[in-house]
Amino acid sequence: MTLPQLASRRGYDSISLYSPDRRPCAIDLSDNTNMWGPAPSALRILREAAAESVVRYPTTYASTLKQALATYLTHVGEHRTGRPIDAGRIVTGCGSDDVIDSAMRAYGEAGERVAIPDPSFAMIPVFARMNALDPVPIALTATYDIDVARTLDANARVTYLCSPNNPTGTPLRRSSVEAIVDRASGLVIIDEAYSEFAGSSFIDLAERSDNVLIIRTMSKAFGLAGLRLGYAVGAPALIANVERSRGPYKVSDIAEKAAVAALGSDVEWVGTIVDRVSENRRRFTECLTVIGAPPLPSSANFVLVPMREAVTVAAALRERGIAVRPFERLACIPNSPLAASGGSALRITIGPWEMLDAVLDALREVLP
Ligand code: PMP
Repeated sequence: MTLPQLASRRGYDSISLYSPDRRPCAIDLSDNTNMWGPAPSALRILREAAAESVVRYPTTYASTLKQALATYLTHVGEHRTGRPIDAGRIVTGCGSDDVIDSAMRAYGEAGERVAIPDPSFAMIPVFARMNALDPVPIALTATYDIDVARTLDANARVTYLCSPNNPTGTPLRRSSVEAIVDRASGLVIIDEAYSEFAGSSFIDLAERSDNVLIIRTMSKAFGLAGLRLGYAVGAPALIANVERSRGPYKVSDIAEKAAVAALGSDVEWVGTIVDRVSENRRRFTECLTVIGAPPLPSSANFVLVPMREAVTVAAALRERGIAVRPFERLACIPNSPLAASGGSALRITIGPWEMLDAVLDALREVLP
């Protein structure tokens, strides 16, 4: 018997699956992960704890990890506020992707708007559509800042901000972020996936407003992208709703144990990685400028290099064993180098110098 094909939720036809080029490559600088490897204590736990971790369910809402994150956020890192951050203000998830998706689901009614800077993290409009919400792109200004007036005018149920922003690498101005936080009527998500590299944070704004959710991840500075560990900080009532939307058992036991070990023992290691990234980013920026391909001013662990024919250049680099992330047509920020390249650009992760040197050699061959 042939039944008529089931229709999916409205709008799902327009959602394409995320499909970056993941073919293996000798030097892979395409996804902004930690090119020095994973946090060492996490790796030790993964080797030791596997057998006992897989047979039972994990903790329902990762209570042990929340406690470790609360200690980390209170006492260490660039985001130290001097005030304790309580575990009740933290929700975890299967990557920060999961936390962002859950937050949109918890707060957006079908058909409501999500204001999103353009360009920004490519998955955000997808999460909006997955939750029957309407993504509203708002072009960044010529200084790579959010356009406060247009963002507020969107009257969105959810406003997404990202600092440092992916893929530009540029940080948002505190005064602009505060203006949005103080005046937006809905939920304000501030994505800090790369904040360790920037040495600054907006986490204090989660105390200033009950409608702010600070999103963070262990995928980047801690080098644990494969374990899928994200988290958010916000007012307890907000956190409780995101947790309802997220559901139980999203963080595996082995991931939770590895993360707790890393937060306890590897914070200094993260500091050395951040220092190496910032030194190599400075040097790489200088060299790129010399070869006529200056990047945007980044405070993340990657740089965006506007250039014509970025897709062709990326393919030529791949032939030379180097993967980077090309963008064909990013939103053209007026009066910026991105406008001059027609929105075409390469995003390159900052790794050890030998890798970046190989990129420079290849670019010298490939660039006209
Ligand atoms: N936010 C931003 C800005 C990102 O660039 C990424 C990953 N590319 C994420 C969130 C998601 O990271 P994860 O799910 O690994 O925590």
